[in-house]
Parts: sequence; C-alpha cells; structure tokens
Amino acid sequence: MTSSITDRYAVIGNPVAHSKSPFIHAEFASQTGQQLTYTAELVEIGGVANFVEQFAQQNGKGLNVTVPFKLDAFQLATRLSERAQRAGAVNTLLIQGNEIFADTTDGIGLLNDLTKNHQQTLKHKRILIVGAGGAVRGVLEPLLLEAPESLTIVNRTPSKAEQLAKDFSGFGNIIACDFNQLEGKQFDLIINGTSASLSGELPPLPDNLFTENALAYDMMYGAQPTPFMVWAKQQGASQVHDGLGMLVEQAAESFYIWRKKRPETQGVIKKLREQISQ
Ligand code: NDP
Repeated sequence: MTSSITDRYAVIGNPVAHSKSPFIHAEFASQTGQQLTYTAELVEIGGVANFVEQFAQQNGKGLNVTVPFKLDAFQLATRLSERAQRAGAVNTLLIQGNEIFADTTDGIGLLNDLTKNHQQTLKHKRILIVGAGGAVRGVLEPLLLEAPESLTIVNRTPSKAEQLAKDFSGFGNIIACDFNQLEGKQFDLIINGTSASLSGELPPLPDNLFTENALAYDMMYGAQPTPFMVWAKQQGASQVHDGLGMLVEQAAESFYIWRKKRPETQGVIKKLREQISQ
C-alpha cells in the first residue's frame, strides 16, 4: 500500500518531539491489523487551522492534540461530543470530509487506568484532586459518574477550583477548597493533576491526608517517581501510580474513535515502561 492512500494520523503540539503517541499508535495498529501512519507534527503557534486543512487534503483522518493547541482544536471542530463541550477542550479530532468531530479522551483514559489496570472502584470513595487546569477539567465528569462519596478540588489559584466545582455540580458531590482547609481531612484517592511535577515541585499538601488502603495517582509520568509520588509513599499511601497508564488508555480511546477497534493496552503500557526506564 502506498503512503498516498494510507490513512494518516498524527499528534500536533509545540513542542511535540517528546511524544510517545507515535509509538503507542504504531503498536495499536500492528496489534489490530490496521493500515495507517501516525506521526508527531510540530505546528507553529497560530497555525493549527492551516495545518488541519492541509492534513485533511493529504488523507489525514484524525489528530491528537496536545499543549498548547487543545483550545484551538475545540474552536476548529464542526461537531463536539457532549463530554468535550463540558470539558471545554479536546484532544482528539476525527476528520470526515468537511466535518471535524472533536472529543476528549483524557477522562476515560484516567478512569480506565484506575478501574481496569489498578482495579479500583470509585463508588463511595472520598477523592481529592489537586489542580484545576485543562487535564482536571477533562476528568471530572467521568470520575463523578462513578458516584464517589465526594470529590474535592484544591488548587493554587482557588478561584479556578471554585469555578470547576460550580461547572460540574450537576454530576455529583463536588467541593472546592484551599490547601489550608485540607488540614484534618482524609481521602481514599488523591490525584495530582497539577503540572508541579514538571518543575520538580510538590503542591503544599498537609500531612495525614491518606486513609488506610488509599491510592495516590500522579497524572505525570517519567523514569523516576515524581515528587508527589515520593511524598505519597512517605505519607503511607498503599498504592502509588504515575500517569503512564492514563496516557495509553486515552490513546486507546482515540484509536477507537478513529478505527472502531479496541486495542489491548496492558502490553503497550509494559513496553513503554521499559522504554522510559532505559
Ligand atoms: P494546565 O497548565 O492546564 O494546568 C496546570 C495546573 O497545575 C494548574 O491547576 C496550576 O495551578 C497547577 N500548578 C502548576 N504548577 C504548580 C505548582 N508549582 N504548585 C501547585 N500547583 C501548580 O496543565 P494540564 O491540566 O494540561 O496538565 C496538568 C498535568 O497533567 C501535567 O503534568 C500533564 O503532563 C498531565 N497530563 C497527563 C496526561 C496523561 O495522559 N497522563 C494527559 C493530560 C495531562 P494554577 O491554576 O494556580 O496555575
């Protein structure tokens, strides 16, 4: 099959060279026998609309969208999934003729990692999410639909946490609070959805936040445990995980949107883990 008739997919970002998505989607394609190419494309700031138009003309069928283009992609969509409308940002585009359907798969990616890969149930659990940026906005709906006892959001800029609690109050018991209001509270699951780990920092969380058998989850991943993961272990969390599984699971959901095939994820997570540890 020549490249001119092979369906094309890509991740767009700036920067994007670090992306693991080409590896993940190549694994998914080979596993499910799908003929496609998937590349990482560096797009200049302000250049998303042009890029998508040209990509569509060159047999481009779908895109993943990463920082800083999630909002551009949202605006470019001709049709949005309901969850993307509520999240206000998208990470997956499906190109069909003149139509661009947009969806967000980060939330389902996190949920699948927690429930399938780490065998967690969220029903009746007390959840704390640290951070109130784009990633957190995308995961609130699927987490709340699992009917936890409560979902508390804490953020460095408290007004953003308050806004999120307001926007998602229709989905369950969601509360915003300040870091100092966490004193004396306990949680079964604490998710770090901040980008603090990127700069080697730890959000100002008080001691004794974990219940017995609690799980700590950092959406970030890397060769070494993040400062949040190190802290969580010291604080007695019984399970501590990074966001590598979320990355692969959100990719699997994008792949399903594009190809209507559900790839197996566990083997890909294992291979990626080996790759980033080298
Ligand atoms: P945003 O830039 O939208 O939001 C960043 C958030 O982190 C804000 O709430 C910000 O607070 C907070 N923050 C940043 N630095 C600090 C700090 N030093 N101390 C406390 N809070 C801080 O980023 P995203 O929401 O897009 O991404 C967040 C994280 O999630 C990143 O690490 C990203 O890599 C990860 N991610 C992982 C995915 C996966 O598949 N595993 C998918 C998507 C994201 P404030 O509002 O005060 O600025």
